[in-house]
Amino acid sequence: MTPKPLAPVSNPASPADAHIPELHTLLQKHGIRPTRRRVCILVWLFPHGATRVVHRHYSAEDIHRRARKEGVKMSLATVYNTLNQFSRAGILKRVVAGQGHSFYDTNTSSHHHVFYEDTAQLEDVTNITEALRHIKKNRAHSRNQRIEIMVRVAPRTGPNDRRHRS
Ligand SMILES: [Zn+2]
Repeated sequence: MTPKPLAPVSNPASPADAHIPELHTLLQKHGIRPTRRRVCILVWLFPHGATRVVHRHYSAEDIHRRARKEGVKMSLATVYNTLNQFSRAGILKRVVAGQGHSFYDTNTSSHHHVFYEDTAQLEDVTNITEALRHIKKNRAHSRNQRIEIMVRVAPRTGPNDRRHRS
């Protein structure tokens, strides 16, 4: 059976539309029904496709603004719900940088961040040494610099799980 052709999401057409079939498959692989809104949001997040991911941090407001610009109707609540659904599926990583500042990161691997409170910008930091360099560099003009490290621990599952041994 020939799959139904997928409608472009950009108007005028954009090279990113070439990745629609691939992003469609990505949603299906994660058990998410590929609705037009979800595919649109994925094209905006991954304009070079799912295999050439450019690491960026988006806020729900960024995506909502983009939807308005493209003439795609969706409420901010829908954008939040969709981005949270993508992050639960592991397509995105949600980064909470403080009250009222949630970001959706296209880099889902483990990494650190620096958040600039004055501009509300979030930047990647690859390792602790680089994070310390940021701290030294910004010490002179930083009023209340905070370092918050979270180590995530998840119980092991599978045959090596302690709970299965007795
Ligand atoms: Zn990041």
